[in-house]
Amino acid sequence: MARILIVGGSLGGLMAANMLLKDGHDVRVLEKVRGSMDGRGAGIVTHDALTEGLKRAGLDDSESLGVAIDGRMSLNHDGSVGIEIDMPQVLTSWSRLYHLLHRLVPAERYLQGVSVERVEQLADRVVVHALDGEQRVTFEADLVVASDGIRSAVRQQFAPQIQPVYAGYVAWRGVCDESVLSNLTLNTVFDTFGFCLPVGEQIIGYPVAGPGNDTRRGRRAYNFVWYRPAPAGPALDALLTDADGVHHPGGISPNKVSWKNVSDMRQDARRILAPQFAEMIEKTAQPFLQPIYDLASTQIAFDRVALMGDASFVGRPHIGMGVTKAAEDAAALADAIRSHGATAEALRVYEQQRLPQCQMAVDRARWLGAYMQSQAAGSDAHTTERNAREVVAETAIDLGRYGHVTAFRPTPAPTQQHAGAKHAEH
Ligand SMILES: Cc1cc2nc3c(=O)[nH]c(=O)nc-3n(C[C@H](O)[C@H](O)[C@H](O)COP(=O)(O)OP(=O)(O)OC[C@H]3O[C@@H](n4cnc5c(N)ncnc54)[C@H](O)[C@@H]3O)c2cc1C
Repeated sequence: MARILIVGGSLGGLMAANMLLKDGHDVRVLEKVRGSMDGRGAGIVTHDALTEGLKRAGLDDSESLGVAIDGRMSLNHDGSVGIEIDMPQVLTSWSRLYHLLHRLVPAERYLQGVSVERVEQLADRVVVHALDGEQRVTFEADLVVASDGIRSAVRQQFAPQIQPVYAGYVAWRGVCDESVLSNLTLNTVFDTFGFCLPVGEQIIGYPVAGPGNDTRRGRRAYNFVWYRPAPAGPALDALLTDADGVHHPGGISPNKVSWKNVSDMRQDARRILAPQFAEMIEKTAQPFLQPIYDLASTQIAFDRVALMGDASFVGRPHIGMGVTKAAEDAAALADAIRSHGATAEALRVYEQQRLPQCQMAVDRARWLGAYMQSQAAGSDAHTTERNAREVVAETAIDLGRYGHVTAFRPTPAPTQQHAGAKHAEH
């Protein structure tokens, strides 16, 4: 039995904690947020690999993850239906997955309010230095697994040169209650994975469980993600500035998003989106926004310390795979530790397995998103324009189940970077 510390108690950390606990290890999770983490995040597309990961983490097969749909459609500007594709999928939410995974970890092993500052590697063990409120504390372990998100403090220590690269656009997100929507919206797009593809932009959405994980008709909600260009500099800064004029370069929290920006965004929605999506946006109380980033690491094992989840690689959300990737990382780590013990060698094996797969996911996500930029006026993004059917057929699909619908052509990595901007946690 090895002592393993996991930094970060979100979905990635919980996935790893549960898999390693099941293998009999002495696991503790260090999470900097004190108090409830519920209510973070929004919809999550599931993949068979995620279901497998959840099973391995100890989840019962019979647990319902969320809402099942049969297919996808795109809406034209006038609200008529464009493309329709059969593609069954299950849509869940961050809160649902957090609740299911968190309750499997014994309370004494999930330490909240502990913010990790530094990791010290000794010949035979690792010492983690953290702040618990005002108090300095240390923890010892055989291995440290850092699942502390895109701004990972652990990655900053071991690989400070690896930084997120701003993709040049943001996602406006929100969740609208089913009960407030018109029959037009309910009868066309609500029960599907919906798209609307104005030039240079993209909105997608899908039904998710309503409050209390209620999946009954009338009690569900519709989760939307609207990708809009916002070049680094004044355009992005304006979006990250609240109504009192305070700039939040590190990511603006949902309750700080300026009402003026929300109002402008709603007006644009009425002008350029299908009325069904404009209605959802109008009726969502607090839409929020997140800048979109690429993050690709060249090393994710540092002797007895490994990076996983968003701390190691982040693909743009078009692949809808962040949580699935975290589950695959956790399973690969657990496998390597089974084969090689809690050693630096195990982490090297984990790294060899995951680096190429994660890089591929980041490349594919960039490819899925890049066409929007190639359509934008004055763009220098040299990508092939994609037709709407390809976008609908390729976005957030379960590759294991449906494969590639079109040939995936990697696009060059962007160099544009906005040093101050940060991924909002969700
Ligand atoms: C617009 C959008 C849509 C998305 N849609 C999907 C989707 O459909 N499907 C999907 O699978 N994924 C999706 N994702 C991605 C998904 O949300 C993430 O990949 C996933 O949540 C990653 O989890 P994580 O545990 O690695 O990191 P995070 O969720 O970022 O968690 C990091 C945790 O570490 C803690 N922490 C940070 N620093 C410290 C420290 N110093 N000490 C202790 N704790 C610390 C934080 O408080 C946090 O709890 C989407 C993302 C975006 C932006």
